Formats: sequence, C-alpha cells, structure tokens
Amino acid sequence: MKAMKYKNYIRGRWVESKSKEVFEDLNPATGDVIGYFQKSTSEDVEDAIDSAEKSFGSWSELPAPKRGEMLLNIAHMIRERKEELAKIMTTEMGKVLTEARGDVQEAIDITEYMAGEGRRLFGFTTPSELKNKFAMTIRRPIGIVGLITPWNFPIAIPAWKIMPALICGNTIVFKPASDTPLCALKLIEIIEKAGIPDGVINFVTGSGSVVGDEIVLNKKVRGISFTGSKETGESIVRKAGIKKVGLELGGKNGIIIMDDANLELALEGVLWGAFGTTGQRCTAASRVIIHEKVKKKFEEMLLARVKKLKLGNGLKPDTDVGPLINDAAVKKSEYYTEIGRKEGARLICGGKRMQMKGFFFEPTIFTEVKPNMRIAKEEIFGPVLSLITIKDVYEAIKVCNDTEFGLSSSIYTENMKNAFLAIEKIDSGITYVNSSTIGAETHLPFGGVKGTGNGTREAGIEGIHEFSETKTIYIDYSGKLQKAQIDTENIK
Ligand code: NAD
Repeated sequence: MKAMKYKNYIRGRWVESKSKEVFEDLNPATGDVIGYFQKSTSEDVEDAIDSAEKSFGSWSELPAPKRGEMLLNIAHMIRERKEELAKIMTTEMGKVLTEARGDVQEAIDITEYMAGEGRRLFGFTTPSELKNKFAMTIRRPIGIVGLITPWNFPIAIPAWKIMPALICGNTIVFKPASDTPLCALKLIEIIEKAGIPDGVINFVTGSGSVVGDEIVLNKKVRGISFTGSKETGESIVRKAGIKKVGLELGGKNGIIIMDDANLELALEGVLWGAFGTTGQRCTAASRVIIHEKVKKKFEEMLLARVKKLKLGNGLKPDTDVGPLINDAAVKKSEYYTEIGRKEGARLICGGKRMQMKGFFFEPTIFTEVKPNMRIAKEEIFGPVLSLITIKDVYEAIKVCNDTEFGLSSSIYTENMKNAFLAIEKIDSGITYVNSSTIGAETHLPFGGVKGTGNGTREAGIEGIHEFSETKTIYIDYSGKLQKAQIDTENIK
C-alpha cells in the first residue's frame, strides 16, 4: 500500500491541519509506514466544533426516518466495500483477515439497526395522576457530540457511536485512535458519499492530549462517547464536567470451567477468547478459572493446541494470530511476563517477543496463578493468559469478581445451577454460558460495570439512550389550573 498523506474532514471538505504537521501510521505486521495523518491542533478542533454547531439545526430538524434512509445507504456502501475495508484493517491494525471481516460486518449490522430506529425512537405514554391530562415522553438529540475511539475495533467501534449519534439528530466531532486513522477515514469517506450533509460529521486526527482534550473541554460539546483505557476514561470524566459522558473501558475477563464442563468446547472458547485478536479485545479472556478436578487435563489439551498456533501477517490465510498493535504493546506483554515470573506463577508457554519484523509476541500461558497476583488483576491487552485453580462454583465466582473491571465473563458447565449462579452473581455487563467471553451482537446492549464504565451501554436500544435526551410532556386539557403532587386528593 502506497503511503499517502490524508486530511481532516470539516464542513464537508478535506482540509489540512493548521499545524502543517503529520504523524505516521504503521503496519504492525511489518513496521512499514502506510500513511501520514494530520497532527491537528485545538484550533482545528474548534473549527470542527463550529462546523458541527452550524449544521445542528437543519440535521436535527430532518425527520428521523429520512436520516434512517441515509444510514441505509451507508450500510449498503460498507457492504459493497467489505473486502477492501477488511484488507485495509488487517494492514493497519493487524487482526487476521477473517476477524477484520467480522469487524466490518459489525459496522454494517449497527448501521442497519440504527437506520431502523429512525422509524421508532420511541418515547412512551403513561396515565396522568390528574383528570383530563395527558403525559408522554419524546427523545431529542443531545447537540454536538464528541466521539473518541480506540484502535482495536477500528471500524466497528466508530460505527457503534456514529450511527446512533446520527439517527438521534446529533452532529459530530470524531477523533479516531492514532494507530488506526485510515480505517476511520475510509468510514468517513463512505458517510460523505452516502449523502450525509456537510458539517454533520467532522473528522479530526491527532493526539489525545491535544485533539481529545479540546473535544472534552469545549463547552459547546454536550456529550462525549469514549471507548479506551480506564486511565484515559477517568481523566475525561474529571475534565468533562456536566457533559453527558459514556465510557466503555477495560476488562479482565474470566472464563470459569467447571468439573462438569464439556472440555473440548471450553478449549475452543479459551483459544478464541485469549488469543483471538492477539488478546487485544476489551472482552478478551485473560483468566481461566478452572476446577481442580479438570485442571491438569485441560492444561495439557490447551498447551497442545497453543503450540500449534501460527503467528504472522493477518493477510496470510494460514495465520492464526496477528501482531500486537505497536512496540509499546509488545513491551507491555514483556513487562507483565516478567511480573508473572517474579510473582511466582509458572510460565508454561511463550513469554517472548518474536524475533521478526513487526510487533509480534508469543501466545503466553501462566499456570498456578493466585487471584491476588498482578497478572490476574490488571489488564495486559496482549496474548497472556493466567490459569487459576478453584474448588467449587462459589470460589470460582468470587475469583472472577476479584478485579476492578466488570465487562465480560463466561462459564462452561452442564449444570443449570452453576450456570444460573454465574448469571446472577458475576459482576459484569455480559455473561456467556458455554461460549467464550468475546463476540457482541449489535441489537443487544454492550458495556460493563465497576471499572469498565459509568453505567452507559452501547448498541441496541441503549445506544439510542446514550445519544439522546428524554423530554417529558404534560398536556392539560381540563381548562383549569390543576396542581400535580398536591391536588390528587381533590379528584372526584
Ligand atoms: P487509550 O485510552 O489509550 O486511547 C483511546 C482513545 O483516547 C484514543 O483515540 C486516544 O488518542 C484518546 N485519548 C488519549 N488520551 C486522551 C485524553 N487525555 N483526552 C481525550 N482523549 C484521549 O486506549 P487504547 O489503547 O486506544 O485502547 C485500548 C483500551 O480500550 C483497553 O483498555 C481496552 O480494554 C479498551 N476498550 C474497551 C472497549 C469497551 O467497549 N469496553 C472496547 C475496546 C477497547
């Protein structure tokens, strides 16, 4: 891929940053530069916010079903370019091509779902406590919303935010992660061609500390939707003041395997959860919490399969595990491997950077991990898995909950009681039974509890709640002053 220079998109025009500077976008499988992106300034962001402000009136007044038609165009155009987008994604982000196709498909799914919401955007009606009075709610846009996204789902996550924001009638300033701006730009190109009016969506690349900060601090931006690390999320909340903020943060997701589990099925789930996307999913399984009776057998089964995983460029059809996103991510996996060793966990597989071009780290497994070790508690975001032994389902759930995060979880069991205990007692936004921790369907809510977020959920109907405000309407047709709260005793 020829490394071109790309621009910001503001007021429906492709423009350079006032800084006149660019940053490099790398292919993590080769280390080659694949593009140059604008190193934007806070003035560029102000410009984008001004553009979003000017477009808000006409966009929010357009009937939502009309906005829905435009979203359907977008979905159609993404589908037509699915293979091209997937290849760009693998080249820019590293995930293997089959997973990149899944990422693009998720964008199609959420776009179609949100297009349909254009004919719903339901409020509700309910009886009034007074006679001759009608009560209902409607949904209104928030205004200008700032969208800040990570690199691990470089098309799906932007789409998860952009589509509900658009259908609800908001205008947008969008900053993608600096490791994957090309995927984001390709999505913007499609949105432009699909007929979304100028200024409704504005795209500004650059650092979190400059571009992100201005989006978060600017008073004209009324809502922020952020997906990324817990540290960044916390700093955003501190700065955003009374803006409506949605946070989707990290995870330390556990798979529980009980002594009655189908171990072959659990093995597939663990391989997919821990090493799919090279462990770089927010829902990745980084802990296996396994019953002592089946631990030895499962460990042998797991080792045999992990040793066969093929690392390489995700564009090659025989690659199982792609690179990590950048050199810092490799260093983080190395760092935690060292911590695991020092803490006394037993390394049974991997643990090293691959001596080849690009940012590769071996699939790594620690066993005899204690729940209080750092490798069992902190998000590594790489292919590093910890095995923790438990004696019964109660201990398993306690261990599973013993982390500051609460995104996804899973239990493998053939016993209904174990399954329902996990569903009720695990503190997480998602619990799978007899499947891995990863993989979301766009018509169901997605998000987590505790350190994973602040209570918002993305996708499905809750995605609409994130990007709209509720207005309550009372219509009094009694012809007299009726006082709610104090007047009910006088109703005859
Ligand atoms: P990150 O927090 O480093 O960056 C995320 C985005 O925030 C980037 O666009 C970055 O430029 C921007 N940013 C950085 N500093 C900022 C600041 N001060 N103000 C405003 N914006 C700023 O996260 P990352 O490394 O890109 O992504 C990995 C993290 O994302 C992991 O912790 C992972 O678990 C999490 N994640 C969560 C979900 C979820 O839905 N819960 C999904 C995917 C990823």
